[in-house]
Amino acid sequence: MTYFFETYGCQMNTAESAALDLAAREQGWKRAESGEGADLVLLNTCSVRQTAETRLRGRLAHYGALKKKRRTSFTLVVAGCMASRLGDRLRKEFPAVDYVMTAAARPLFPRILEAAAAGLPLRESREAPVFSFSSSHLEEGAFRSFVPVMHGCDNFCSYCIVPYVRGREVSRSPGSIAQEISLLAGKGVREITLLGQNVNSYRFFPGTGNSGENGETLDFPGLLEKTISWIGGTSISWVRFLSANPGDLSPRTIAVMAENPCFCRHIHLPVQHGSNPVLAAMNRRYTRESYLELARSLRKALPGLTLSTDVMVGFPGETEEDLEILLALMEEVRFLYAYMYHFNPREGTAAWNLPGRIPESVKKRRLSRVIVLQKEHTLELLKSRIGSREQVLIEGISRKNADELIGRTERDEMAVFPGPADLVGSFVRVELLTLRGNTFRAELRD
Ligand code: SF4
Repeated sequence: MTYFFETYGCQMNTAESAALDLAAREQGWKRAESGEGADLVLLNTCSVRQTAETRLRGRLAHYGALKKKRRTSFTLVVAGCMASRLGDRLRKEFPAVDYVMTAAARPLFPRILEAAAAGLPLRESREAPVFSFSSSHLEEGAFRSFVPVMHGCDNFCSYCIVPYVRGREVSRSPGSIAQEISLLAGKGVREITLLGQNVNSYRFFPGTGNSGENGETLDFPGLLEKTISWIGGTSISWVRFLSANPGDLSPRTIAVMAENPCFCRHIHLPVQHGSNPVLAAMNRRYTRESYLELARSLRKALPGLTLSTDVMVGFPGETEEDLEILLALMEEVRFLYAYMYHFNPREGTAAWNLPGRIPESVKKRRLSRVIVLQKEHTLELLKSRIGSREQVLIEGISRKNADELIGRTERDEMAVFPGPADLVGSFVRVELLTLRGNTFRAELRD
């Protein structure tokens, strides 16, 4: 039996697809090259923007047509945020869909595989599914892995669908995280990323999760401290976390990072906007001033730290002056890179009903100003690094040239350099020589 996954959206979906991939392999299934001939096709979907859902509807229509055309049928599964948001409505809209699997229903996947292999329908369970964390699956030859530590979000930013589709925050038990880290270390992993929609609001209450957990409530800085001890003496040298909410990044978290070089000197810290009225309308729970203060404290405590971010323009009510204030914040912080987009109303969120919608043409114009400025900053920051010597983790062989290796610095900069393939997975020192696009050309140094 063969399967094919299409994964869209955030790193959480990537990690969850990896877990489903592992489940399929454990049952003896093989990965197909494409969805065209596979026995099971799974779309791990994203609802964050309307455009993402529109694209996925196109994919579902494609597989619906394929089902009609193919002589032997196949099982079509929809997982991820569209599954949670639309539920069985998806099956009505696309009768070719066999299963709509919410994140909480993921433990049912092995049974879906069994039913698909036997050509029988899945027997429905009466119990409501409860979300549980699953182990990551490491791609062959990979040295970096996500470790999901929390799921869901309680923040309810007014534009965001995530709290509605992923549900309330659930934190994974420290015992289960430790187990997974030890498993990954056993496979020679060198870098882990602690993953959660709102990772730094991690809070585990003993007795609420897996059994056997005693002691006090564990918060995010406490989790970082434990992670240091879990990776001690193993192959894992670098630790990152994603995505941090600026409103929840505590001084203790900064102090733990500052004392421990295993925490990479890069943080993705989504600002979304730089103007206080817009931040308040977005329900972001921090101000321009507190964000700038946080960026200053981080850079003071962690010299050389790079910051990346998410920026949204065209939120209802945003004025030209708000845009200028956002650009000024970007000038002050100087992000290494940013994911930039314009507001897209999502039905079911608080922002759906907000007055003052901005015309598309204005949103596009404002977005292009943000993009132009960010490109300048990226280039300027990268250029300033030319000539420096850096440690990189070699992630693989360059796709463009088999004699070249590709690596990443702890500051999240990419470098390509000549070197032997047996170095893949190791830390080396390189000198950053020139830039091609946003990637450094480099050479190995002692
Ligand atoms: S913090 Fe805000 S933007 Fe991020 S997932 Fe939660 S509600 Fe969405």
